[in-house]
Amino acid sequence: MAAGQAAHEGANVTLLEKKNIPGRKLRITGRGRCNLTNIAEVSEFVKHFGKNGKFLRQAFARFFSSDLIDFFNQIGLATKIERGGRVFPESDRAQDVADALLTWIKSQNVRIHTETSINKIITDDDRITGAVTDAKRAIEAEAVIIATGGLSYSLTGSTGDGYRLAKSVGHTIVPTRPSLVPLETGVHFPQHLMGLRLKNVSASLYVNGRKTAQEFGEMEFTDYGLDGPIVLTLSRNAVEPLEHGSKVEISIDLKPALDHNKLDARLLRDIDRHGKMHFNNLLKELLPMQLIPTCMESVQIVPEKSAHQISAEERKRLRLWLKDFRLNISGHRSYDEAIITAGGISLKEIDPRTMESRLVKGLYFCGEVLDLDGDTGGYNLQEAFSTGWLAGRSAAKADPNS
Ligand SMILES: Cc1cc2nc3c(=O)[nH]c(=O)nc-3n(C[C@H](O)[C@H](O)[C@H](O)COP(=O)(O)OP(=O)(O)OC[C@H]3O[C@@H](n4cnc5c(N)ncnc54)[C@H](O)[C@@H]3O)c2cc1C
Repeated sequence: MAAGQAAHEGANVTLLEKKNIPGRKLRITGRGRCNLTNIAEVSEFVKHFGKNGKFLRQAFARFFSSDLIDFFNQIGLATKIERGGRVFPESDRAQDVADALLTWIKSQNVRIHTETSINKIITDDDRITGAVTDAKRAIEAEAVIIATGGLSYSLTGSTGDGYRLAKSVGHTIVPTRPSLVPLETGVHFPQHLMGLRLKNVSASLYVNGRKTAQEFGEMEFTDYGLDGPIVLTLSRNAVEPLEHGSKVEISIDLKPALDHNKLDARLLRDIDRHGKMHFNNLLKELLPMQLIPTCMESVQIVPEKSAHQISAEERKRLRLWLKDFRLNISGHRSYDEAIITAGGISLKEIDPRTMESRLVKGLYFCGEVLDLDGDTGGYNLQEAFSTGWLAGRSAAKADPNS
């Protein structure tokens, strides 16, 4: 987006791409469908980036979700809006998004050098003068835009080079960590839960016994722990405490539509209706099969006990477990399984009106390399596209020919 916009404004642009094709990550986004943005209002949108979200207001004022949708429609990619305001290509193919962009930047006469990494940026008196590739080729430039992404899914090309390049000219890097990342539950994790998907559940994150976040939706159990949309979102608040050694737990409310009173009434009704049924069979009315052994172990009720023999105390234990199935979180997966990298180039050193470095004239940054990370839902790509748009347009002004 940055390269195409700079060229669109008349600049003479060369795109240096480390991999064999630009946009490899874009091609795998949204489970291959690319959730390219979200139609939430700006005030709502920026909240999905936490305290740093306000930095994006200027970029969003220039190029926001409706502009992005118009842009893609104009370059031949039809889009559709789904649940939660998420926007996808009508074809459901992330490849189509990347291909449309690539075709467009070629039409803007951007020169593309693939399998070429920037290794160094060259400055003179706090002004950019060019960059050096891994083949030690120096390229002179009036402006350089760093759009190298973060550290997640490194096979797509994002290996943190931008942090090193920025640091080499004096930028501060806010310590990075994986975000939107699956969570591990340690050695005591019940393996028979592997593969289980839960829909319409509520999950809460507890740090040192204090509830810090809550999400409603889908999650799944893996061989190491937990994954799925609500777990990824909760991970945004889990990674830092885990790295500081705090006690982190996830509590799953398996019956979020029923409060304690209603759930108790439901349990009593089931017990009345199926008085002779064994407890383990009664649970089939309440839970997916895979969860039954874990439930029985936790509530300590004899499986062969008839429903009508279940005491009030046992019924209470069952109700409390259904509302608070708690798992200890022992760690998180690595960058290679993280949707996004949190931390990055300090926003204090970037002008939000242009994306230009406040330290080096002619140096611009955009996308995930910045200290910005958002929730799932199309927020991160819009951030990358908006800051890319702004960096490209601003950098073009540095080209005397544009
Ligand atoms: C599996 C997965 C699914 C995702 N799904 C979604 C989604 O549906 N919606 C959403 O909003 N976000 C999603 N994201 C997040 C989103 O993909 C990123 O936020 C976004 O791609 C960041 O864009 P970027 O251009 O900053 O970095 P990247 O997309 O990582 O691109 C950086 C590029 O720079 C190149 N590069 C790196 N170093 C150098 C160098 N030294 N020289 C030259 N080139 C270099 C890389 O090869 C790469 O092509 C997903 C992420 C992952 C991993």
